[in-house]
Amino acid sequence: MKSIGIAGAGFSGAIIANELAQAGYKVAVFEPRSHIAGNCFSARDALSGVMVHKYGPHIFHTDKEHVWRYVNQLSVFKPYVNRVKANAGGKIYSLPINLHTINQFFGKAMSPTEAAEFIRQQADNSIAEPETFEQQAMKFVGEALYRAFFAGYTQKQWGLSPTELPASILKRLPLRFNYDDNYFNHQFQGMPEHGYTPLVEKLLDHPNITVHLETKLSRAKCADFDHVFWSGPLDAYFDFSLGHLPYRTLEFKEIRASGDYQGTAVINYCDPEIPYTRISEHKHFAPWEQHADTVCFAEYSRQATQDDEPYYPVRLVNDKQLLSDYVALAQQEQAITFVGRLGTYRYLDMDVTIDEALQTAKTFLQTQAAKQAMPVFVISPL
Ligand code: UDP
Repeated sequence: MKSIGIAGAGFSGAIIANELAQAGYKVAVFEPRSHIAGNCFSARDALSGVMVHKYGPHIFHTDKEHVWRYVNQLSVFKPYVNRVKANAGGKIYSLPINLHTINQFFGKAMSPTEAAEFIRQQADNSIAEPETFEQQAMKFVGEALYRAFFAGYTQKQWGLSPTELPASILKRLPLRFNYDDNYFNHQFQGMPEHGYTPLVEKLLDHPNITVHLETKLSRAKCADFDHVFWSGPLDAYFDFSLGHLPYRTLEFKEIRASGDYQGTAVINYCDPEIPYTRISEHKHFAPWEQHADTVCFAEYSRQATQDDEPYYPVRLVNDKQLLSDYVALAQQEQAITFVGRLGTYRYLDMDVTIDEALQTAKTFLQTQAAKQAMPVFVISPL
């Protein structure tokens, strides 16, 4: 029986652990924090009884039917549609930008066709291939909507001007000329009935798996295993020898109240004068539960230091150079595979993380059967 070491007990680490344990491998999972489930960690708030997503809201959404089936065998998923509101200029609007937002914002009652034509006139059509976030927004929705909904929020979220950020960040968001206010375009969406932690617990609950909490897997200790899967930060594996890959981190300010604080799960604050980006009221993520009291979190985004939890990889041009230097270094390693959001320094949704972890485990089992070398990256970070 071969031994496997895994750094990190989030979805990536837990899924690989589970797949390999089922295939007969002995797996040791090392997690520096005091809990499993990574940034998906959820726990009941002791005072209100509300299920809280400790590292910010995680809404499960996917178009991948096999991933949807996979998570549904780990937990009951309750129907949930993410409908986000925006506070801009002291008024409340519907997000993502849809026909309601456009009609509210411009004080009109346009039809889908009229609104599409109106936005076409607002948009800057001289931009052929948008490279920056600002160019993408100007081409996508035009200046007025860009200033109201994107410029301030993005500056707060990334700590950089939208003129310095890549267009790809905005491409995550839809623009709709109908009244569909579902934040996501995906076919499947829902929330696990008892939060995300039980899913990861179930994955790690196998006689071949041991979990070591509050324990870092060091590079030196990796040699104890036949193969290691590293879902911790790529640069941390190399003790930051080439420098730090930049991340944004989040700070949460707790707000407690009785009853209903804001009437919905998420309100984005788009104005630059308001220091937080959004407020999440977690009981609205579980509308099937009843709670007399409520707990909310205002999110403040800032550059992560070495002591902070890394959240969003920044991936500007210079960061990509540093990343490719780390990738080159990693390629010289043996018997290790870097996985997940931190291991590959990518902005990953949960469904992609899960899909890639399943794919990684499968590749490992295939390479073992064929007596081939397991790649250092199954999914390229570049
Ligand atoms: N964004 C914005 N205003 C909003 C919501 C999003 O400017 O009200 C921008 C922001 O730059 C953000 C990006 O669009 O990083 C992607 O938004 P998404 O909601 O996908 O961000 P996440 O959920 O990952 O924080």
